[in-house]
Amino acid sequence: MTLQWHQIQQLSSRSYICGHCGESVSSDRGYFAVIPGMGGVSRSIYICHSCMHPTSFSESGRQVPGPLYGQKVQDIDDVNVKALYEEARRCYGSNGFTAAVLCCRKLLMHIAVAKKAAPGLRFIEYVQYLVDHHYVPPDAKEWVDHIRSTSNEANHEIVVSTKEQAAELIDLVGVLLKVIFEFPKMMRAKKP
Ligand SMILES: [Zn+2]
Repeated sequence: MTLQWHQIQQLSSRSYICGHCGESVSSDRGYFAVIPGMGGVSRSIYICHSCMHPTSFSESGRQVPGPLYGQKVQDIDDVNVKALYEEARRCYGSNGFTAAVLCCRKLLMHIAVAKKAAPGLRFIEYVQYLVDHHYVPPDAKEWVDHIRSTSNEANHEIVVSTKEQAAELIDLVGVLLKVIFEFPKMMRAKKP
């Protein structure tokens, strides 16, 4: 689909990570608003040249929607897994770190059960299952140990998660999704 925005203007160039498509873009096309009587641009809306979606910036530079966190993973053929991963990335971009952590925990459970883990295990047990069955690369062991040691097991309590915890879990899930979905498909495509 090709979109044509009307009366788009030249703006000073701005680099940002698009909250819609996750691409790192540098755009100088969009719209701006000024406060009458005050000099300079007050607020602006930039159009991503990759996905053509708009992103607004306040006077202080606050970006809405915020940047997508985590790596892009191709070829996830499980609709729920794909949607949850994108949700986790978007939550992070909107400062919803607890929501991002909950999405990732659900994802880890989905992934482990899809790989024959028993349903109803604890978060730590699912992580251990993925490690034991070599879905987590051996060199990532220290990093996974850190995630396990900082994870709060009291799922029934409302616990606010930090930005770092959300980032660590999105990174772990991103690696797993690449290993489980993207790389096998890529290798199959290379076979004659
Ligand atoms: Zn975009």
